[in-house]
Amino acid sequence: MVEKDRKEKKERDSKEGKFEEIKKDLEHQKAVLLAESGEIITGGLNPGVENFPDMTDQASAEADQSFTLRLREREQKLLKKIDEALERVRSGTFGICESCGEEISLKRLEARPVTTLCIACKTRQEADEKIRES
Ligand SMILES: [Zn+2]
Repeated sequence: MVEKDRKEKKERDSKEGKFEEIKKDLEHQKAVLLAESGEIITGGLNPGVENFPDMTDQASAEADQSFTLRLREREQKLLKKIDEALERVRSGTFGICESCGEEISLKRLEARPVTTLCIACKTRQEADEKIRES
């Protein structure tokens, strides 16, 4: 009995340690994203123009712009997810599936720390989306 308690406490401690690591990773990722989005704003990216040799300069400039906008939109979304994940770490709800309330496995959290769903709910959600799309 005592042995079991000790084991559970150890597992809990190591989980909190992992959350601390994940939190640091997220903060790092956020800093990188913010630095990158600064570069994009000042025109540091010029993607894929050579793939469209027939485009006029005007058209490729517009394509660049929409690419940049799309990229920024994606980054904004990711930044928001990171912020939300950090908030969950702070409030102590990190690692709990928002759909079923079960704990999300540590393995999954390490691979995808911004996730809010356990693997079972995520799989179900993806299956639902597939049905809607087809
Ligand atoms: Zn779930």
